[in-house]
Amino acid sequence: MKEIDNPIEAPVDQSRTNPLARVFDELVRFCRSRSMFMLHYCTGCGAIELPPAMTSRFDMERLGIQPMVTPRQADILLITGYVSIKTLKRVILTYEQMGSPKYVIGICSCTVNGGMYWQSYATAKQLDQYLPVDLYIAGCMPRPEAVLEGMRKLMDRIRSGEADGWKDYYRRYDWYLGNQQHLFGDDWQTPADVIGEASHYDLAEPGTEGEHTRLLQQCQKPLEPQQTFFQIGGSLEKKGESHE
Ligand code: SF4
Repeated sequence: MKEIDNPIEAPVDQSRTNPLARVFDELVRFCRSRSMFMLHYCTGCGAIELPPAMTSRFDMERLGIQPMVTPRQADILLITGYVSIKTLKRVILTYEQMGSPKYVIGICSCTVNGGMYWQSYATAKQLDQYLPVDLYIAGCMPRPEAVLEGMRKLMDRIRSGEADGWKDYYRRYDWYLGNQQHLFGDDWQTPADVIGEASHYDLAEPGTEGEHTRLLQQCQKPLEPQQTFFQIGGSLEKKGESHE
């Protein structure tokens, strides 16, 4: 991953000719990097180092980073260790529910290359084959100091405009989807309209659609409405129907 020599020096966006617009962009990036909600998906044993990183000893909140309980309001998705194939489906569902811009951090060597589970049939070996990973924090398991250092690095990358994995997901969605289909089967689908979002952010490119998105459209089934069951007295009620 490319190191940032001076995080204050952001690459100049040539399309923004107005100097005031550039100052505004810089201000937005600065504010964004200092106020982030983090959703930590505790997939593996590396999660054990997060409580000390978040609580009084290391106090991650002083950097402007707070835990968040829903993907809709989160900016950072933290994957804390090996990801089983079953779990990876939930991780992708979670990622696609987050609003953009959004960032992914892979903690632990298991997210980089499979770690000690590199031979397992049940784990995904390389997280960035399925999701855009903005930063890896390697180690088995990385200590809270390393987690905080990684967070600082991500903040620098956001401020300099280099943390743009979310854009890559839209631009090369067909490639990511192809890897997901290879692992989960041709009928893999999520409720998110990623192609529509790519158009919304003006990030639809030739890699957004292709053979895999066409396969998705062929196999896509309407999602079933969730059924609610509840107990009244001795009978089980479902959507107003009674079952004796
Ligand atoms: S790198 Fe080590 S601590 Fe982290 S998930 Fe893998 S086995 Fe567990």
